[in-house]
Amino acid sequence: MSVSLLRSSSADAIDKCIAALAVAFQRHIDVATIRVYRETLSPLPLWAIEAAALQLRRTGGEFFPPVAKWYALAEQLVAERSRETLQLPPTATVAGYECDGCRDTGWCEELRGDRVVCLECSCRKTNTNYQRLTLSSRKVNSSR
Ligand SMILES: [Zn+2]
Repeated sequence: MSVSLLRSSSADAIDKCIAALAVAFQRHIDVATIRVYRETLSPLPLWAIEAAALQLRRTGGEFFPPVAKWYALAEQLVAERSRETLQLPPTATVAGYECDGCRDTGWCEELRGDRVVCLECSCRKTNTNYQRLTLSSRKVNSSR
């Protein structure tokens, strides 16, 4: 790792988080430990590292948190934020089906006499869920 990267402002900010945690947990942290923590956490965005550090200070338990715990918590915060910014469509659209007849599978079951037959659903040409599903499964197959 380059010296310039270690001297970056985010490295300083991570150092401050470590120092604050050391105070909060009343523990002396040596230079080697700081370096390992800083290197481990540095791929994550600073806001997540800082938010996770604050959370650990409040609810981290009795002992100075291992870096893996800190990393996992920060990673979780990043995942939560990216889910929020994804702007998922309203729940009704996610849970419901465009076509209730086939549940967007493109196949509907029909009772003929005493047996059930599978038929191509008439929604196939207009059902965007069905089209997306078949397109993505085709992609999976062709990449093999
Ligand atoms: Zn259908």
